[in-house]
Amino acid sequence: MSTERDDLTIGVLALQGAFEAHLEALARCDVKTVAVRVPDDLDDLDGIVLPGGESTTMSMMLERNGLASKLGEVCSGSLPVFGTCAGLILLASEIVDGRDDQIALGLLDAVVVRNGYGRQVASTEVDVDVDGLSGSFRAVYIRAPRVTAIGDDVEVLASRNGDPVLLRSGAVLASAFHPELSGDDRLHEMFVDMCAAQAIEAMMNDTTLRTGCESACATERTS
Ligand code: GLN
Repeated sequence: MSTERDDLTIGVLALQGAFEAHLEALARCDVKTVAVRVPDDLDDLDGIVLPGGESTTMSMMLERNGLASKLGEVCSGSLPVFGTCAGLILLASEIVDGRDDQIALGLLDAVVVRNGYGRQVASTEVDVDVDGLSGSFRAVYIRAPRVTAIGDDVEVLASRNGDPVLLRSGAVLASAFHPELSGDDRLHEMFVDMCAAQAIEAMMNDTTLRTGCESACATERTS
C-alpha cells in the first residue's frame, strides 16, 4: 500500500503570520495545500502546519473564527501537526510570559518561554545539525520561543547551545525557528513523510478498506 505525495492534502493555519511561505514550501514538496481559515477547512486534511507569527493574536483569532476547539480535536486525533515558532507556542503544554487567556493546545509536552532569547537576538540565523539530515540546516529565529523543559516522550532532533529547537513527539513536529524562510525544504519534506506514514496507518486501521483489500487479495490468490 502506498500514498503518493499528490494524494496528500496539508493545511496551513492562515489567520496571521508567515503562512504564505509554508504554503509555497509544501507545494514544492508536491502535496495539495489548503489555507485554513474556518472550521470546515480542517476536514479531510492529512496534516496541518501552525506557522510563526504572534501566538497571542493567533489565539484570539482561533477563538474568534470558531477554530480553537475543532483544531484541538483533530490534532488530538493523531493528525500530524508541524508548529513553527508561534506555532510551537500554541502546541506547548505550558507557556511562560504569555497572556493568561492564550491557547496552549498541550499536544507537545514542553514548557516554552515566549520571546525567551530576549530582544537582542530577536532575529538571528544559525546553522543547526538535525538528526536524520545530512549537512546543517539554516535556522532563522525571529523573537523565538525558548524551550526550557520537555517530557520523556519528546525527542530532540536539533538543539542550539543546549536548548531544544526542533522536537518530535508522535505525530507532532515543532521548531523554535522558521524553516519556511531558509529556502531549504528538508523539514517540510520530513513533515510530509510523517503525514504519508500516518495516512497509510489510517488506511490500515480502516476496517472497511482492510476487509476490501483482504477479500481482493483472496480473490487474486484463488484465481
Ligand atoms: N514571539 C512570538 C509569539 O509570542 C513568536 C515569534 C514568531 O513566531 N516569529 O508568538
